[in-house]
Amino acid sequence: MANQRTVSSILIENGTLLFHDGQRLIEQVGWLAVEGDRIAAVGAGEAPDERRARAGRVINARHMAVLPGLVNGHTHLSQTFLRGLADDRPLLRWLREVMWPAQAAMTPEDMYLAAKLGLVENLRCGVTWLVQHHKLPGREHVDAACRAAAEVGIRMTLARGWVDLGPAAEPLDAILAEMQWLYETWHNPQSPITLASGPLAPWRCSDDAMREITALARSWGAPTHIHVAEAQDEVEMMLARCGKRHIEWLADLGCLGPDTELVHAVHVTDAELDLIAASGATVVHCPTSNMYLASGAAPVRKMLDRGIPVRLGTDGSGSNNSQDLLECAKIAALLAKHATGDAQALLPGDVVGMVTRGRGDAERGRRGDAGTRGRGDAERGRRGDAGTRGHGDAGTRGRGDAGTRGHGDAGTRGHGDAGTRGHGDAGTRGRGELVAGAVADITIVDLNNPRCQPVHSAASALVYNASGADVHTVIVGGEILVDGGRVTVVDEEALMEQCRLAAAALMKRAGIE
Ligand SMILES: [Zn+2]
Repeated sequence: MANQRTVSSILIENGTLLFHDGQRLIEQVGWLAVEGDRIAAVGAGEAPDERRARAGRVINARHMAVLPGLVNGHTHLSQTFLRGLADDRPLLRWLREVMWPAQAAMTPEDMYLAAKLGLVENLRCGVTWLVQHHKLPGREHVDAACRAAAEVGIRMTLARGWVDLGPAAEPLDAILAEMQWLYETWHNPQSPITLASGPLAPWRCSDDAMREITALARSWGAPTHIHVAEAQDEVEMMLARCGKRHIEWLADLGCLGPDTELVHAVHVTDAELDLIAASGATVVHCPTSNMYLASGAAPVRKMLDRGIPVRLGTDGSGSNNSQDLLECAKIAALLAKHATGDAQALLPGDVVGMVTRGRGDAERGRRGDAGTRGRGDAERGRRGDAGTRGHGDAGTRGRGDAGTRGHGDAGTRGHGDAGTRGHGDAGTRGRGELVAGAVADITIVDLNNPRCQPVHSAASALVYNASGADVHTVIVGGEILVDGGRVTVVDEEALMEQCRLAAAALMKRAGIE
């Protein structure tokens, strides 16, 4: 098993490569070579013989989409044990009646198993990197989630959840000490596991704690990941407390910046969107969860039009109830259309960007070098064209152009400059791009099935037809963690049996029938 998983060089050939060229999504049949943990070369058409000859492993991706590894921008792995348990309730009832009491009864071993199962599910759905917004603050519970991620091999940012107001409040000093321990124990930009501050929601955090903990995270270069404006009653609570809406509160505290990840942002005003855009913060959109809890529809088109980086998240399995990011992609596109009455509110190219883009720093790099352009303008440009070119332009145009785009010489150069540019820290340089020099996080989705064929645009098929069940191969840092639909790192049957037993015992302990 291990020798299958780790091969020094991999050639992926005959696949439809999907990547952004800085302006739009390109689709191109071609090949991609991985050496060690990096993408070594990318090219159009047939793979060179010498590449095939020296590859330790050749993956034939004919009729498959080859993408930068999918990014699940927000989840709660503890909820893997709680899916289907609190269906059909609004946010605050869902939290108070089931999520809080059930999670409070979880042992570190429960956390480890729930995390491991959730991580395997994410992998199976094509995810190479996720943000675990960790709600069980005990040191052993945090440790359990990190151990599970280290064993599975997926990239995980653990946003250490904290609150200092209301139920489960911790004293500020304790939060700071635990964050310090976590940073020293698990945070490593060169490893798959990194740390973020994870305040659970503005109405559960005091002004002082928000300021101090954000300052500590910033001193490490770690982001702050926070639920905001998910439900209207949460906004009302902050207005009653301090007369400010969620984004205004963060901005006034000095806690809204390029290192801020705003989860949900459903109930935000245009003025708040302007604040987000000016700050460089990222929004994590969780449309399935927002529909499930009847929270509303985030104004995603307005966000993209302002150049706000938007990532997609499944949210926890308590409010989804799966981790299928491709299902979430379809729901994102449909919800935006439904909510705005505009069939072009969100296009497949937009959504593919939302699930493949790296973290905030990659987005900032792009926004920065685009001057005032940002991603919103690129998308607007496409939308503007649509009257004459039709809605499939993202896919079909890229394909038409491919021959002249200079990929032919990619055997040595790759189709970008990421080899020298990079975006983030060394461990994840170039994440979110299929270019030479980028970290080899790659997802391959098999479109060769009756639900997808014939494929006119791979982006359209990915968003509107494919699901997590179609994920064929997942590579993280050059290691094959899913191979032909089979997870290479975990005995799934044994894990599921352990999880069934542990979840049943948890329900008993928590008094949930
Ligand atoms: Zn959440």
